[in-house]
Parts: sequence; structure tokens; C-alpha cells
Amino acid sequence: MSEQEGVIQFNLLHKDSDVLSYPQLGALIQCHQHMHQLGLINQDPSRYNGYAYGNISHRLRDNEFIISGTQTAGISVLSAQHYAHVIQCDIANNTVQSRGPVKPSSECMSHAAIYAADPDIMAVIHIHSPTIWQQHQNLQLATTAIDIDYGTPEMAVAIQDCVQQSQSCIAMLGHLDGVICYANNIETADQHVTNLIALAAPTGS
Ligand SMILES: [Zn+2]
Repeated sequence: MSEQEGVIQFNLLHKDSDVLSYPQLGALIQCHQHMHQLGLINQDPSRYNGYAYGNISHRLRDNEFIISGTQTAGISVLSAQHYAHVIQCDIANNTVQSRGPVKPSSECMSHAAIYAADPDIMAVIHIHSPTIWQQHQNLQLATTAIDIDYGTPEMAVAIQDCVQQSQSCIAMLGHLDGVICYANNIETADQHVTNLIALAAPTGS
């Protein structure tokens, strides 16, 4: 696997702006705190070359969304200053247009692909879980192929195929430990994650 976690793989047109103010921010911050407590979104010197991993987004309108900023996952409690607004994501041209006090997560292309695939999906959670990822077959998760790298147009297309199967969670086999869950509200997306944790037996048992 040649990928490196946390490195932005697309052309980013980012405009620095003041801190964002959106009604969805409170729920995003709360969900992040929950995922961080579970160790599913975090930063660990011994994993992924020390890059922060995992991110959460919420749709605003049309295909615009807010998402945590790049390399913020290690912070237990985020605030508005850690979020970026993705205005447009052109998957075919591998270009993301955003604004905010931070640049968006390096995986915002995958989030954009999910929102584009289904207008009813309102929230997307990307976690890293060796336990869930290794048990994707038992858990009957949709999967993207092992040769597809994160944050790329190829990944975006593969993710859209998975969403068409009406799955609530996807394991990205080309992205070590990478799992994405989504739903029509953030509480349900959070529940999808906790359900998977409960269903997945501890690794090695
Ligand atoms: Zn990831």
C-alpha cells in the first residue's frame, strides 16, 4: 500500500475565512468527541506514520458540506475553528473548493462522493478500526477494492457504487483500517458505527 494517511491528494482551492457558524456544528463536535473516545478518530505516533485519522462531515445544502479540518483528529474536543466548508467537489477533475479557518480533511473527496450518490444522506463518519475492517466479510460490509487509494477520484466512484447498494457502511480495502458509515442524520450514522463495534468480535479471538 503506497498511500500515506493525511496527505491531500486533490487540487484544493481553499479560501481562508473567519470561523464558520452553522447549526450542525454542535452535533458534529459531539459525534467527534464520541468517536475520539472510542479511539476511532484520533492521532497515534505508532499508527499511519503518526498522521491523524478519521473525520466527520454534515451536509449543508445541495452537495455542500462542513467537515473537520485536515490533521485535527487528534484533538478530543473540536470547536468551530476546526471546521471547513466544502463548497464544491469536482470528482472528475479531482478538484475541491472550500473556505474556512482550516483546510478540509484530506478525505473530503470520499465524503463528497457519498453526498452526491444519495441526496437523503446527511452525515458521513470516516473512522479507522482494525477490528471492523478485518471483519468486513462477517459484517457484510460493502467494499471498495484494495487497489483504490483514499482521497482519489477512483475511490469516489467506487464509493458511489457502494452507496447505490443502499449500504450504511463501507470498508475501504485499499485504505488500511478505513471504514465509512453514513445516514440521513448524524445520530443514526453514529449508531451504525457503535453497532459495528458491538458486532465485531475482538481481533484474534
Ligand atoms: Zn482514513
